[in-house]
Formats: sequence, structure tokens, C-alpha cells
Amino acid sequence: MQIKRNVLLNPGPATTTDSVKLAQVVTDICPREKEFGDLMEYCATEITKFVGDPKDYVTVLFGGSGTATVEAILSSVVPENGRILIIDNGAYGKRMCQITKIYKLDTVVFESSSIEPIDLKALEEVIKGEKGLTHLAMIHHETTTGLLNDIAAVGKLCATYKISFIVDSMSGFAAIPVDMKAMNIDYLAASSNKNIQGMAGIGFAICNKKALLATESIPMRNLYLNLYA
Ligand SMILES: *Cc1c(COP(=O)(O)O)cnc(C)c1O
Repeated sequence: MQIKRNVLLNPGPATTTDSVKLAQVVTDICPREKEFGDLMEYCATEITKFVGDPKDYVTVLFGGSGTATVEAILSSVVPENGRILIIDNGAYGKRMCQITKIYKLDTVVFESSSIEPIDLKALEEVIKGEKGLTHLAMIHHETTTGLLNDIAAVGKLCATYKISFIVDSMSGFAAIPVDMKAMNIDYLAASSNKNIQGMAGIGFAICNKKALLATESIPMRNLYLNLYA
């Protein structure tokens, strides 16, 4: 079969090869059967291996765009008395702030330039000054400007101040190496349609198992997007 090839110049959904397109032409498979479960588990484990050891990290797949996955993480992991700091240095950081506002999460916003590196000293001062921070969320690679944020350095701060670290690596995942353990990341959001150049429509929430299991007692704020469920 010949498929006309368009070269898309947007960051994603990305151009797909014929082999990716044709891989979808398969026998129908029942989502209630073991073979479907096995396939899901295989995909989730392979995705996890990009950034962590499947012994300690697990990938939750969502039928939805990348934004659904970011919303799933943010709405699921911050406890009722929790407090989240979001680094806003571009369009996608702003979107995170929009999400936590909708869910009425106690949010501190650290604004930073969308083209200059984050001032880590200023960030640390804010972390020290704000009481009761439980989570910190930021973008890895700010797709709209191409700014690559130093997640390793922020991960170190999170380790020092015992803050759970959330990273949206939608346009970094599978192109820029990430080591969730070394970078102290508990939750990483990625998707099927940017660097891995798959079909759009699946979001990946890669989670530190221990951190995820500890969210069991947080009252659910939604149903489909609840990460623990
Ligand atoms: C593309 C992107 C998103 C949103 O993903 P969608 O699949 O378009 O919903 C979120 N964050 C970053 C950094 C992105 O590049």
C-alpha cells in the first residue's frame, strides 16, 4: 500500500512512518482478554525502561492527549492539605497552573523567563520561604520556545527539601535522557506522539511505585483520570 507522505514541521503529533501506520492494521482484540492485558503490560514496561527500572517505576497509560496525563498526575497526587509549587516559564507551565486552579489546589507559582535559565538560587529562596510545600511541578523541555530546563538541578533541591517532584517531559521523553531515580522524579508525563513518533492519543504517566501507592488515601477528584485507580 502506498501512503502519501507529508512532512509535518510541528513538534507533535509527529510525522509517522508507513510501518507505524500499518502496525495498526491488526486483528481486533478484546479489551477484556488476557492477550490485551499482556500487550498493555508489555508496552507500559518498555516505556518505563526509557527512564527507570520497572522494579521501582510503573507506567500508567491513558487514552487521551498529553494534557490529559498532566491533568491526571496533578489532580491525583497532591493530598488535601498539600501544597504545590509550579515553575511557570512558558505556555505549558501556564497550563499546569490552569489545571491546579480548576482543582482548587493550594498553588505557589514561580515565574521565570521563557528563554533564560531558571534562577536556582531564587527558586531555593522561595522553597525555603513557602511553608508546607509537598510537590513541585515543572516542564522539562518547553516546547514553545525550545528552552531546556535543568531538571536534575531542581530534582536535587526537591531531594534536599523533601518535596515530591513532577516533570512534564512531553517533548523531552525518548530524545533527551532522563533518569528518574538519579533526578529524584516521582512522576513524569510523556506521550505517544512526540519524540517516539507514534500515533497520537496515548499519554504516559511514569510513576515512582512507592510514591504512587502512597496516594491511595487521597480522596478522588475525578474518576477516569485518577492515577492510583
Ligand atoms: C505537547 C505538549 C503538551 C501537551 O500535549 P498534547 O498531546 O498536545 O495534549 C504538554 N506539555 C508539553 C511540554 C508539550 O510539548
